[in-house]
Amino acid sequence: MQGKDVLSEMFRYNHEQVVYFNDNHTGLKAIVAIHDTTLGPALGGLRMWNYENEQQALWDVLRLSRGMTYKSAVAGINLGGGKAVIMGDARTQKNEALLRSFGKFINSLSGKYITAEDVSMNSSDMEIIRMETPYVTGIPEYMGGSGDPSPVTAYGVYISMKASAKFLWGNESLSGKKILVQGLGHVGSYLIDHLHKEGSEIWIYDIFEEKIKDLASKYNVKVADKEKLYELNVDIYAPCALGATLNDETIPKLKCALVCGAANNQLENEEKHGKMIMEKGILYAPDFVVNAGGIINVYYELSGYNKQRALAHASKIYDNVLTVLQTAKNLNIPTYLAANQLAEKRIQAIGKIKTRF
Ligand code: NAD
Repeated sequence: MQGKDVLSEMFRYNHEQVVYFNDNHTGLKAIVAIHDTTLGPALGGLRMWNYENEQQALWDVLRLSRGMTYKSAVAGINLGGGKAVIMGDARTQKNEALLRSFGKFINSLSGKYITAEDVSMNSSDMEIIRMETPYVTGIPEYMGGSGDPSPVTAYGVYISMKASAKFLWGNESLSGKKILVQGLGHVGSYLIDHLHKEGSEIWIYDIFEEKIKDLASKYNVKVADKEKLYELNVDIYAPCALGATLNDETIPKLKCALVCGAANNQLENEEKHGKMIMEKGILYAPDFVVNAGGIINVYYELSGYNKQRALAHASKIYDNVLTVLQTAKNLNIPTYLAANQLAEKRIQAIGKIKTRF
């Protein structure tokens, strides 16, 4: 989207608001995108990433915030969609002052956007942000929060794989299935634990060698070759790193039968690559249906966290995935479209109720 202006990009996917934050004192450069607040306040994680330029960060936050609207809508929770990105290298630039500065900024939005953790963030970071604003979730359990959402997200991905396996092969067992997990961060590592217990044949890859070594020392896993990652002969490919890994270059290489993972915005271009993957005969379990465990978990923090309630709600992801896959099959449409339609239907229906009384 190089060269395009912010307003035309907002117009394209109907974003309500985009806010830029700059603080020379701490070096904070952040963008918050609020996509849609029909169902409730815009809640979505904060990501810190070393973007090549501002356009790339904007592109990411716009796509991610829209995904959050759809994710909460399908998950059946009363939240709108928003997301925040901080431009910078978390390994060298993330510190208390920067996070508190971010907290102060989002406090100025008076709760229209509520933050949470995403890539390069953890619950201790949320605790720091909490010093400046109440509009933050995923704070540690010792502060009455829900803590790290990743175990619930990973559980959701795991049961989504089982639902997809049932749909594809008539049996939900993942025992013996060859599964590539790309991205060995918070979610990827919890997912591997589930798959290990189920007896899957696990392949792993991460850009950081130490993460590969760490996981390989704990589990009986095989390490995938970076150059042949997408060509790997596996049953399931689980993208658990960053988005856009389903694109012109990768889809022709894929040999898997199913794509089901945690990463947001896996299809680089939703329409083009959603259709392309369908035509290749690969089942794509839509990311925002699959990875809703985290948002479901933090949603229950807003009303006084109850883990059982959050897990009970997250277990509905299994049926949501089956509904989407079956609808796509019945209508002969890409799975992402079936999921989008489900989300839009709920937003429209609830939106109408809200304006009636
Ligand atoms: P994380 O930062 O803990 O882990 C991401 C991992 O991906 C890191 O280990 C990183 O080194 C690796 N990585 C980055 N680029 C890579 C590449 N090109 N190839 C291989 N590995 C690469 O993040 P996380 O919390 O585990 O989240 C993973 C994905 O799931 C993200 O896309 C995130 O938006 C999404 N997600 C996370 C949650 C959650 O609860 N944490 C919820 C919903 C969606």
